[in-house]
Amino acid sequence: KELLANRVKSLTPSSTLAITAKANELKAQGINVIGLGAGEPDFNTPQNILDAAIDSMNKGFTKYTPSGGLPALKDAIIDKLKRDNNLSYNRNEVIVGIGAKHILYTLFQVILNEGDEVIIPIPYWVSYPEQVKLAGGVPVYVESTKEQNYKITAEQLRNAVTDKTKAVVINSPSNPSGMVYSKEELEEIAKVAVEKDLLIVSDEIYEKLLYNGITHFSIAEISEEIKARTIVVNGVAKSHSMTGWRIGYAAGDATIIKSMTDLASHSTSNPTTTSQYATIEAYNGPQDSVEEMRKAFESRLEIIYPKLNAIPGFQVIKPQGAFYLLPDVSEAAEKTGYNSVDEFATALLTEANVAVIPGSGFGVPNAIRLSYATSLELLEEAVSRIENFVKSKW
Ligand code: PLP
Repeated sequence: KELLANRVKSLTPSSTLAITAKANELKAQGINVIGLGAGEPDFNTPQNILDAAIDSMNKGFTKYTPSGGLPALKDAIIDKLKRDNNLSYNRNEVIVGIGAKHILYTLFQVILNEGDEVIIPIPYWVSYPEQVKLAGGVPVYVESTKEQNYKITAEQLRNAVTDKTKAVVINSPSNPSGMVYSKEELEEIAKVAVEKDLLIVSDEIYEKLLYNGITHFSIAEISEEIKARTIVVNGVAKSHSMTGWRIGYAAGDATIIKSMTDLASHSTSNPTTTSQYATIEAYNGPQDSVEEMRKAFESRLEIIYPKLNAIPGFQVIKPQGAFYLLPDVSEAAEKTGYNSVDEFATALLTEANVAVIPGSGFGVPNAIRLSYATSLELLEEAVSRIENFVKSKW
């Protein structure tokens, strides 16, 4: 008998994690690799959050919690959504889970029937298509080009809808492009959602990482009607440098949230108790460190962006948020003798010793993704290695 179920046969491992693993392998061989692949802030979790976690353990709060999260954490999230996004929710409209990633996984499990379609704009975060497929759904890609700033239009969305379309995923600020949808663009997209009766999955995990005066607007803020069909997904991984704590959450329709909670009660029981206490402090405590980290990313972006854009054959749109750059390097790859950007990216790792993620994993095969969640010193060194590599082969 076959070992594996059909469900997982086409499953591809996350390209982001795969490159990081390969870079670590080279590092273990003593090669000085600079990793620009990772999707996590390079800062320590703020001290007040660590203290709150330790304090909770010392008080003995190390047992199971309710499946959907501690009531006190739900309240802290409800306050955050009110304070930052002007959105009002009740406890039964919020679920806390094991990172935004697993929240999204659970969400697709409860909203999709076999064959239901989910519209995913290109470029996309690697896990959306796989998660949709694992839930029996079908990812339907809508391509946004570099020329349209990697954002889909309402018209494109409308044209992609069929009678099987259940939901559309909006990720703003975007991983991997760093682009942000304006309020007006979101309003147009929301109109299509109403017209075609779609759910909106709004992944706002990079909300706090916005640069040069850009502000966040959640599509759920448009109206009560839009809020009712939107599931807002967020977490503390990127905002509070808490990737390893694994806390994310969703806010939206009570029926969907209840079903997600029931599923969690049989799959995860609850997100780690200590992490939940840490997250209460992350939201209820001082927010200065969030702004300090944002500023550090912003100043790196200002320094690195022009240098990267100046590399021959690199075309980069300046990101507005998140911590990634997505240069189109098709010309550089061609001029340096590679058949594809994937091959060019591999050579960057093995020859220039800089780990970047090939854009093919995000639906943009002409691009590579570089994360600037690393020190300025390393970033400058990495960019000069890439530049020398390109110039030497041109
Ligand atoms: N959504 C996007 C767009 C992301 O980039 C990530 C992390 O890389 C996540 C969700 C998942 O975040 P978490 O660490 O909370 O699972």
